Amino acid sequence: MSADSTSEFEVVIGLEVHAQLLTDSKIFARSSTVSGKTANTLTDPVTLGLPGSLPVLNKRSVDFAIRLGLALQCSIERTSIFARKHYLYPDLPKGYQISQYDKPICLNGSLVVRIKDGTKKIGITRIHLEEDAGKNTHLSDEPYSLVDLNRAGVPLLEIVSEPDMRSPEEAGAYMRQLRQVLLYLDICDGNMEEGSLRCDANVSIRRRGETKLGTKVEVKNLNSFRFVERALEYEIERQIAAVREGTPIVQETRLWDEAACTTLPMRSKEHAEDYRYFPDPDLLPLVVDDDWIARTKSSLPELPAQVYERFRKSYELDPYYCEILAEEKAVARYYDEAVAFHNNPIAIANWITTELFGRLNKESMAMSSNPISPENLASLILLVDNKTISGKMAKAIFDEMFSTGSSPRDIIEAQGLKQISDPAELEALVDSILSQSAAQLQAYRDGKTKMFGYFVGQVMKASDGKANPQIVNELLERKLKA
Ligand code: ADP
Ligand code: MG
Repeated sequence: MSADSTSEFEVVIGLEVHAQLLTDSKIFARSSTVSGKTANTLTDPVTLGLPGSLPVLNKRSVDFAIRLGLALQCSIERTSIFARKHYLYPDLPKGYQISQYDKPICLNGSLVVRIKDGTKKIGITRIHLEEDAGKNTHLSDEPYSLVDLNRAGVPLLEIVSEPDMRSPEEAGAYMRQLRQVLLYLDICDGNMEEGSLRCDANVSIRRRGETKLGTKVEVKNLNSFRFVERALEYEIERQIAAVREGTPIVQETRLWDEAACTTLPMRSKEHAEDYRYFPDPDLLPLVVDDDWIARTKSSLPELPAQVYERFRKSYELDPYYCEILAEEKAVARYYDEAVAFHNNPIAIANWITTELFGRLNKESMAMSSNPISPENLASLILLVDNKTISGKMAKAIFDEMFSTGSSPRDIIEAQGLKQISDPAELEALVDSILSQSAAQLQAYRDGKTKMFGYFVGQVMKASDGKANPQIVNELLERKLKA
């Protein structure tokens, strides 16, 4: 029982994504935003909400909001307003979170997402700036909880999508590609496990053909792409079963329970809080002028979807390769640089995605610590292409390049690995093998044509694997026919 395209139900999903921004200091205070420090060491009077302290807006966080807004085709509002959102919880010492409410900084954008059969434009309702809260730790054996305010005041962007997604896979694709944009813009580290990228998923179902939206449920606590998709799958089945039973769906917030693979009710609409939003009197309206927007626009990098398209068009790469090579900015740049040295885009794509990624994975290394320069990888492939070395030798040389960072030429020089392609030298080798193989030669002439492989093998062995196999084959064919 699920809502596939043949089902009587249609699924509707909208995501609210929170991205922690990579600023050095907090959004309204001077404390550092680095993670992993001793609890409550990154605080100050503003972060602690001490009386008399005043917030001062971090300009870089606004820069980042504009960057993302432009990347997602939003209109950048010339004036936006910070508002207080009130609730009482120990992770929020002021008793309110500073957020943006009815006047957010970015409106009406979109992200074109690649899905399994083409692309789909997902609307972005709004993007607003706000501060993160602290972190509570609830201890199972103690009658108290711990509060760490290091995270309190870290700048966040909340990206609210339109209810445009129609399946968990589409939601997963949107989330992954939104993360790529954030990473390309260098504004968020995108780490879902550590919570620097978080997602609340809103989902409802309706009968196919119905134009009104169904009652939505919001699912929280989704800290991986897999959980976003799984929680949605579970929730969709739960809602379909309820509707079939005649039980009405109630608008509520549910929590994803990872261990049990279910969603559990957290609070219903009747218990929804009244946040008593009002403009924060301590902060001026945020004014962004045309010049600021123009400067930011001109500094935007090429975005992942553009890189994907460029790889597909100018290098004629398979979608599979485009996907992998465009995923990370550092990989895309590496690929471009390697192709600039040696114009064999397909072989280079192949080497990067198999040999290089295989090795980086095995050593748990990131692209940033890759010891092989794009120039060295390109020269290795050039040496194969111009038949200086065989494909097999190239793999061994690659391993050496990875361990030492040396150039392929230096390794070939040092280890005397150059392929033998001189026909005279090879002919002598072939002749000597044939003269030592009278019995095998007889067998071949008697019709055992499989012996051909034996002769090739012997020549390769005698040359320590350095003989150019293609020339050896040609020589043998000629000689055996004679
Ligand atoms: P709320 O007032 O509860 O915050 P919003 O209208 O602001 O709700 O929407 C929050 C998110 O929920 C948005 O991402 C939106 O696309 C999504 N959403 C709204 N209505 C529905 C619905 N009926 N089904 C699925 N998602 C929805
Ligand atoms: Mg809302």
